[in-house]
Amino acid sequence: MPAAPLPLPYRLDERVAVVTGAGSGIGRATAQVLAAAGALAVCTDVDGGAAEATAKSIHAGGHRAASAALDVSDRAAVFDLVEGVAAEYGRLDVLCNIAGIIRTGEVVDVEEADLDAVLDVNFKGTFHACQAAARIMCAAGGGSIVNTASGAVDSATPGIMSYSVSKAAVVQLTRNLAAEVGRHGVRVNAVAPGLVRTAMTARHYLLPDGSLDEEARAAAEKPLRRMSPLGLIGDPEDIAYAIHYLVSDAARFVTGQILRPNGGVAMPW
Ligand code: NAP
Repeated sequence: MPAAPLPLPYRLDERVAVVTGAGSGIGRATAQVLAAAGALAVCTDVDGGAAEATAKSIHAGGHRAASAALDVSDRAAVFDLVEGVAAEYGRLDVLCNIAGIIRTGEVVDVEEADLDAVLDVNFKGTFHACQAAARIMCAAGGGSIVNTASGAVDSATPGIMSYSVSKAAVVQLTRNLAAEVGRHGVRVNAVAPGLVRTAMTARHYLLPDGSLDEEARAAAEKPLRRMSPLGLIGDPEDIAYAIHYLVSDAARFVTGQILRPNGGVAMPW
């Protein structure tokens, strides 16, 4: 008798995954990659139409998806969504907190409203979803959460304090939660991407007519390319594949970690 084939640890068949910020960039790519690996990807975004477009692109590829509008800073809405998904599909295996915003301004100039907005979405939005999902996953005896930090936590880049602080808080939330829920079989990790070509970064190089100023973008990317041993700037899929690894059984021994897909720009201990 031939031995039964080993299960492929990267497959996500039967799993239900909620992805926030799935209407654009890294969130969209992540929903697409998880669905291609077999998961039902529940695509959520503050822009419900964008979430629906991502779900449609997944259906077009022959994979499974659903979509919903979700503002992650709305705690009640986050709990409704997460609990609703678990009730509708009978399980919640994966949560990817990817929704995020950035506001610029040096510390001495930052408006409190901007600081609040960034903390509300990036940190508290991640916290709400982690709390809602962890309760369900702990009761079920397993699950995997991936949060999105940033390379901004590894330096003190002028002009983005609010963003950096929100992402540093996401890192610590990830570690605390991982330490608390591991005994229930729930893993919690984060990615800290380097510069990735998405709408969030492109907006710095937009021309008045809305098109991309390729020259300005290339000039801004140059120093980062020089810092990368690979000479690379990231694409959304580069981060999506890292998230796929973290949520999959291939990472069953990995929790409380901050994975840095960043072209080697930062190499902290
Ligand atoms: P993106 O293309 O702008 O995608 C972010 C998505 O989140 C957008 O669809 C956005 O909707 C949505 N969103 C904003 N506020 C929301 C809210 N309150 N509730 C739910 N969804 C909301 O940006 P991205 O570059 O893919 O960023 C994804 C994540 O990666 C963010 O957490 C970001 O901080 C992080 N990150 C990005 C980079 C990079 O270089 N791109 C590097 C490190 C970390 P709208 O477009 O309608 O606002």
